[in-house]
Amino acid sequence: MKLTYSSFYERSIKDPEGFWAEQANLIDWHKPYDQVLDYAKPPFANWFVGGLTNLCHNAVDRHLAQRGAQTALVAVSTETDQERVYTFKELHAEVNRMAAILLSNGVKKGDRVLIYMPMIAEACFAMLACVRIGAIHSVVFGGFASHSLASRIDDATPTMVITAEAGMRVGKAVLYKPLLDEAIQLARFKPKHVLIVNRGLADFVRVPGRDLDYADERQKQMNANVPVEWVDSTHTSYILYTSGTTGKPKGVQRDTAGLAVSLVASMRYIFCGNPGETMFTTSDIGWVVGHSYIIYGPLLNGMATIMYEGTPLRPDAGIWWKLVEKYKVSLMFTAPTAVRVLKKQDPTFLSQYDISSLRTLFLAGEPLDEPTATWIHKAIDKKVVDNYWQTETGWPILAIQHGVEPMPHKFGSPGVPVYGYKMKLLNEITGEELGANQKGVVAIEGPLPPGCMQTVWGDDARYVKTYWNSIPGKMVYSTFDWAIKDDDGYFFILGRTDDVINVAGHRLGTREIEESISSHANVAEVAVVGIEDQLKGQVAIGFVIPKDASNVIQLEAEIMKTVDSQLGAVARPARVYIVTALPKTRSGKIVRRALQAVAEGRDPGDISTMEDQSVLAQIKTVITK
Ligand code: AMP
Repeated sequence: MKLTYSSFYERSIKDPEGFWAEQANLIDWHKPYDQVLDYAKPPFANWFVGGLTNLCHNAVDRHLAQRGAQTALVAVSTETDQERVYTFKELHAEVNRMAAILLSNGVKKGDRVLIYMPMIAEACFAMLACVRIGAIHSVVFGGFASHSLASRIDDATPTMVITAEAGMRVGKAVLYKPLLDEAIQLARFKPKHVLIVNRGLADFVRVPGRDLDYADERQKQMNANVPVEWVDSTHTSYILYTSGTTGKPKGVQRDTAGLAVSLVASMRYIFCGNPGETMFTTSDIGWVVGHSYIIYGPLLNGMATIMYEGTPLRPDAGIWWKLVEKYKVSLMFTAPTAVRVLKKQDPTFLSQYDISSLRTLFLAGEPLDEPTATWIHKAIDKKVVDNYWQTETGWPILAIQHGVEPMPHKFGSPGVPVYGYKMKLLNEITGEELGANQKGVVAIEGPLPPGCMQTVWGDDARYVKTYWNSIPGKMVYSTFDWAIKDDDGYFFILGRTDDVINVAGHRLGTREIEESISSHANVAEVAVVGIEDQLKGQVAIGFVIPKDASNVIQLEAEIMKTVDSQLGAVARPARVYIVTALPKTRSGKIVRRALQAVAEGRDPGDISTMEDQSVLAQIKTVITK
């Protein structure tokens, strides 16, 4: 019988237990589960209760018999001119060595291991080694600096941190080790060990007793054979921090079995990848796309994956397509910003390589604008599939699911609800459900499907309050995105409802940036907003009232340096304007929407609630100066 989207989707909503029990057959179980879903305490959903499984077994060991000699991991660095290829068998050996290093240095099941690493093969070994022994990894994006790192260390309290002394970006060493040392100094919690992969790119200082050298440790474990730790389905596999409305990042906590089942199912129904093929996801392991579609998704599905250290433009703008040709990539996954970067280059770079192996290019992380979509479509003449999701869900919420039914795409829309997600568009004030062509908040009725976040690490109350209590009168999960739905049920995402901005597909909390800027001695008050940017989608802009207005010549540069050193270059505002006042309501709340409009050159709309309406005019003068 021909599969149709509507029947597949309906079944997933009406009979979630039957639906997901079928998908659960896509992974190996050490012990089958007793219950598909335990939803006794909403909104907490526990999937596959009573089962025992292991992510590393499913991603690596179970492929050994059939695919031991087949490529599992290709680690390419155009920065250091290295390409390292690992078969499943070799990956298995490296992961066993890494797992033995963790165990021999006191890491136990349930302990956290923080991974702060560039895009090198060892980062993949580290993630897989953690889940092999039941330790919980928390990968922190390498672009984050010491303060961001310190707050994550304090929240996750890791027994061990794994790092490298440096990464490379555009030919320059990006130092990791000194930033980590500074972060550990700032943090209240002190990890027992720091394991360092020394790439020979930069000198660094070792802390005796605490710091361990990966090469030395690996040498001791060459023949390691570490049995997998069979863990409960609901055992936490990882924590990944993401920004929200408050300055404190939230630790998105994910389970084991739900994650495995949801990702393998997504490889089948959304990404249409076959075991033995190669996937190239250009994100970073520090983001959720990296977790789901660089590491776990492809490997769980018996596919090879490419980890890439470098930019899309070096040595030239043909590099990604060269890799597609060389490794016969079938599926590629990137962000619209990367496509906009490529669009500015000479188009002949695209036609130099044989990309006939490539079936589909997936794009996610930020809105896909029509010119970008049209350009890439024409340039590569392949299917381009937009998909919408979040760190919290771990896999797509909206997409055209080609493995179910190849429905038509509509420009500007990531598509229709993905199986398992009971989606609603709600009025944010009344909670009332909206019909076609009405703007509302994208919400999901519980239970969330397998693979979605279990809770906020260490803070169940925050999970419920943040995500499930934000819409009056209804306990539904809020995505904090605005959207409309057309008559055919296609969603169009219209931007965030909160203070989160999206820079080049990276999610940043404006409050976090404001807190960092406030730490500068000459800052009295600050507001940060995201404004539209042709290349990056959005960029952050700061507005600062100085304490001492006579001393502001260097202030913008100094503030940028402050943000760079505390949060990392990824959070640095594109501009910081020095102003004398900020637009506020009579109750003293900064009207960020008006600031954003002025900075984008738009009409700020109704400003009658503002205390002093002349402030915006003053700000306009500063911006246009
Ligand atoms: P993150 O958790 O960093 O992946 O960011 C998730 C947010 O990025 C979502 O809540 C959306 O605001 C935005 N986003 C992700 N994918 C898309 C997409 N395909 N179209 C529009 N916005 C997207």
